[in-house]
Amino acid sequence: MQHHWYACSEHVDLTMDDMIEAYLLAPILETISESEQTEHPCYWCKQPSEYQLTASSED
Ligand SMILES: [Zn+2]
Repeated sequence: MQHHWYACSEHVDLTMDDMIEAYLLAPILETISESEQTEHPCYWCKQPSEYQLTASSED
């Protein structure tokens, strides 16, 4: 299944580290559209995000 986490530019590195720890997978990083930015807050600071991190696990 695919796991999606969101992060602002400031916290993208921290979020990526946490995601790697959580799923033991290197996430794929993508920028997201403006409407998605407000819909999905940053994992760390809950401000609008700029990036979507996707980790695909086997289950
Ligand atoms: Zn943030």
